[in-house]
Amino acid sequence: MPITKKTAKAPPKMPLKSPSQSLKPKMDMSKLITSDDIKKQQSERSAMRYLSGYQPHIVNQIQSLVDSNKLAEHFLQRYPKIHEIRTDKALYEMTIAIKNAHMRQSDPLAKVVFDEKINLSHHALGLHSYVNRRQGHKVKAKNEIRISSRLKHTPFELLQMVVVHELAHLREKEHNKAFYQLCTFMLADYHQLEFDMRVWLVAEEVGQSPY
Ligand SMILES: [Zn+2]
Repeated sequence: MPITKKTAKAPPKMPLKSPSQSLKPKMDMSKLITSDDIKKQQSERSAMRYLSGYQPHIVNQIQSLVDSNKLAEHFLQRYPKIHEIRTDKALYEMTIAIKNAHMRQSDPLAKVVFDEKINLSHHALGLHSYVNRRQGHKVKAKNEIRISSRLKHTPFELLQMVVVHELAHLREKEHNKAFYQLCTFMLADYHQLEFDMRVWLVAEEVGQSPY
């Protein structure tokens, strides 16, 4: 048998650049910059991690608002007012109203509270839990939702988005298609609001939050 030459040999695979490598800031050494400037720039860049799943042109729009110090103004135009839900009671009532409107059949909610301890270390603004409590011989499951106290001073829409997110977790534990369908069923604008929430997190982190 003659030896045939493989002509369409695939080129060897190049290792993919890790995202951290390709996102390393390129310093412009032609300009004099102070260490404070560098710190500021680095914190602004890292704040953009909240938008990591979005398309580059969208992320760039937000980046240029940050760079021109206009993010607060941009946000205020969109959401001029903050809500007045400050107590756990008010938060519970608001959550139950959404649940009754869209998820009446789901397990009852034992507790909905603001929680000072939920912060960025949880990578979350809300948490849901399912606590098994023993009562005599019976084990009762209790659903609880905890919402970060940071959301006490935000536009209503953003609080609502986080509440809807945690309510959806009563039924779907994972962030899968069914989960997002449930979110948009409760709040048609859910995806836009999640994006706005992330932009608000960027604004907070770079010190451009308007609230
Ligand atoms: Zn979640």
